[in-house]
Amino acid sequence: MAVDAMRHLSMGMSHDFAVAIQEGATLVRVGTAISGPGHEAFAAHLLRAMHHLSATDSHRCGHSGDGFFYRHNIHPYTECLKREDTLARYAENQRLKMIWQSDYQLESFIQSVVFREKYRCRYCYHARLFATAKIAKKGKFDAFSSTLLYSRFQNHALIREIGEAVAKETGVNFFYHDFREGWKQGIEASRALGMYRQSYCGCIYSEMERYYKPATKHT
Ligand code: SF4
Repeated sequence: MAVDAMRHLSMGMSHDFAVAIQEGATLVRVGTAISGPGHEAFAAHLLRAMHHLSATDSHRCGHSGDGFFYRHNIHPYTECLKREDTLARYAENQRLKMIWQSDYQLESFIQSVVFREKYRCRYCYHARLFATAKIAKKGKFDAFSSTLLYSRFQNHALIREIGEAVAKETGVNFFYHDFREGWKQGIEASRALGMYRQSYCGCIYSEMERYYKPATKHT
């Protein structure tokens, strides 16, 4: 299929994205989105991805896509709901078609990374990208991508490597783009919209890394 006819499915979320969307943009977020230990906005992932596939490429290449929200790696559950609600409101406003996971496999996530917590992100990337690719295949999408590629806190090269491996494994194209170029604008846009901003990546380990400080003695 020609590139200009491609639809994209992404996981898991810029300054002029609203204009782009009004003019026919769609896309995608994902997964958990996903940031690193810093303060980047959950919504910024989606906004940046939408901006890219719409304002820059959509008009030239005709991209369109649906969003997929992957959530097993967002802990605790109340944090997952906050992110999901934010995305749901945004998607509704923008008429972005979303695919939502209905279950919440906390146990499965923890069991998959326990005793190898140091390497948990590798598992997490693969789980998210593989789930997305499977949905893309079932829905006959031409490609899948991830807003993980937006984050300055993630291992970008590893995400790309795993995305390409998943593409070979599933037979669905992986749409790669370095979305980090719009990182700052995406955050500004999500702030301007008053969207909920995540303060850690997603899993309970990343929450601890964000907030844990060695105890000090109280005298
Ligand atoms: S820090 Fe946790 S949620 Fe974030 S990518 Fe790594 S395993 Fe996944």
